[in-house]
Amino acid sequence: MVAWYVIAGLVGALVGSFLNVCIYRLPRHESVVWPGSHCPVCSHPIAWYDNVPLLSYLVLVGRCRACSAPIPWRYPVVEGLNAAGYVGLLWYFGPGWSVAVYALLYSSLIVVAGTDLSHKIIPNAVTLPGMVVGLVSSATVLPTGAGNGLLGMLIGGGLLWFLAWLSPYLFGKEGMGGGDIKLMAMIGAFLGWKPALLTIMVGSLLGSVIGLALISARVISRQEYIPFGPFLVCGAVIALFFEQPLVKWYQGLLFS
Ligand SMILES: [Zn+2]
Repeated sequence: MVAWYVIAGLVGALVGSFLNVCIYRLPRHESVVWPGSHCPVCSHPIAWYDNVPLLSYLVLVGRCRACSAPIPWRYPVVEGLNAAGYVGLLWYFGPGWSVAVYALLYSSLIVVAGTDLSHKIIPNAVTLPGMVVGLVSSATVLPTGAGNGLLGMLIGGGLLWFLAWLSPYLFGKEGMGGGDIKLMAMIGAFLGWKPALLTIMVGSLLGSVIGLALISARVISRQEYIPFGPFLVCGAVIALFFEQPLVKWYQGLLFS
C-alpha cells in the first residue's frame, strides 16, 4: 500500500510541474503544450534534468542554470501542494475512479488559485470545461449524483452571482467577478449543493479574516482589490475533505 502513496506523490509532483506551465501561460493566452519549457528571462530551453519537480529547484538553488535568474518559489510550492493533495486524496477516499476525478478537480483548483494570485484572472479554459466534467462525473463515478451536481452548479454559481451583485452596496467596492461565479459553479457541479454552500461560507470567512488582517497590518489599502478565488479554492478543498464531519458538527450545534 505504501507503494501506491509513493506513486500518487510522484504523479502529483509531475502533474504539479505541468500546472506551473498552465499558471504561467493560460493568463498570457499561450499554448500549454508547445513550445517546451524555457526560462522566461533568457529563453534558454530547460533540459529534462533541470525540470525534475521539487528536486531541480533544490539542485539549482532556485536559479536558472543559464542566466541565474531566480526561479519563483511558486514552482516548488505548486509541485509540493499537488503531490501532497494526491497522497491525501488517495488516503481519504481510497483507490477508485472518484479519487481520479477529485485529483482532477484539486489540480484545476490549484491552477485557478495560481492565476488569480498572479494575474487576477480565473481562466475560462479551466472553469467552463470543468463544469461539464463536474456534471458528467457527478452523474457517473462520483457519489454526488446527477441532480445534486446540477443543483450545486446552479446554487453555487447563483449565490455567488447574487453576492457579486450585492457587494458594491455592502462594501462600496467590487468584490467578485465573473470568474469567481464560474469557479463556484464548477465546484458545485463536482461536489453538490451542500458542499458548495460550505465552500462559500468557509471562503467568505477566510477572505474576511485574512483581508481585514492585511488591511490592519497595512500590507494592502482598504480600496485595494483582493482576489477571492484563492479563498474559494481553500473553502472547496476543506469542503472536499471535511464535509461530513463539518455538517455533523453544525447539525449537532442546531439540535443539541
Ligand atoms: Zn534563464
